[in-house]
Amino acid sequence: MALLIPVGDLNHETVRLEGELTAEELALDLNDPCIASRQPMRYQIVAELMGPEVLVQGDLEMRLDCTCVRCLEPFEFVLRLSPWSAMIPLSGEDALPLVDEAVDLTPQIREDSLLALPQHPVCRPECRGLSSQGLDSMKPQGSSDDLRREPSAWSVLDTLKLD
Ligand SMILES: [Zn+2]
Repeated sequence: MALLIPVGDLNHETVRLEGELTAEELALDLNDPCIASRQPMRYQIVAELMGPEVLVQGDLEMRLDCTCVRCLEPFEFVLRLSPWSAMIPLSGEDALPLVDEAVDLTPQIREDSLLALPQHPVCRPECRGLSSQGLDSMKPQGSSDDLRREPSAWSVLDTLKLD
């Protein structure tokens, strides 16, 4: 189910909606390998008719699985659009098409969520990334030692050949 506002009901009342949009329904087009959207977005909204438009206000919240770009540790980022609001035109060129007498808020929420994504997700503001100690401990896997050893191995072979 997408997030649908029944427009007919707005003629005589404000509409309150509360629920979840799954990651599949929201289908965020994440162009970032450091961010994954697997958990549902929770919403709590109130919609009311304002002339030819629907004013929607509320709170949106979703947890994203991120990888810190500095230390590469996984962490959870809470994306919060609060307060969130949108004006949905019902007539004119920008009017949203009605589906079963309802407007679908999902595209608007998708767009606003993408704009609110962290540009460079970091686990905490003061994260300094891999510490110098961490880099040192990775050295045995590094190739600097191997590179130094390799030529000497060849020179040993050379001397053997010469003999
Ligand atoms: Zn970090």
